[in-house]
Amino acid sequence: MGFLLEIVTPRGVYFKKEVDSLTVKLTSGYRTILKGHAPLIGSLGYAPMHTISTGKVDNYAIHGGAINITKEKVTLIVNAVEHAKDIDVARAKAAKERAETRLSKKELNLDVKRAQLALTRALVRLEVNNSK
Ligand code: ATP
Repeated sequence: MGFLLEIVTPRGVYFKKEVDSLTVKLTSGYRTILKGHAPLIGSLGYAPMHTISTGKVDNYAIHGGAINITKEKVTLIVNAVEHAKDIDVARAKAAKERAETRLSKKELNLDVKRAQLALTRALVRLEVNNSK
């Protein structure tokens, strides 16, 4: 028996559906959530995530947000989420190279944090694509 998982982004509800398990990266590391998990609020970084629904595994990239587990449902509020099949690999590789070049050049006005986050997003997308 599964539970209701809702994923919300700034664009609206990404999906709301029944899943059997959800594996996400919390600050304490990867956790697998099953039906009946204790209520919890946690923060989500940039990481792969996967769900299992009637034996089918779906891999996603998620880009920062929060998780709220209640008795009724599990809600993820994230900046962005992409299913593995929707990841544009060429775009992620280009973003990775751009960020790496910026970081290696160390230009005077470089926003290091911004470049590091762009690199992290690209690496997560590529990792999720590899686990398809
Ligand atoms: P880029 O520099 O290529 O725009 P980014 O990491 O700066 O990458 P984001 O700001 O994280 O892009 O995302 C903007 C929107 O584009 C989001 O909706 C995100 O899901 C989507 N997106 C970004 N990169 C990819 C990708 N490689 N494949 C699929 N969707 C992507």
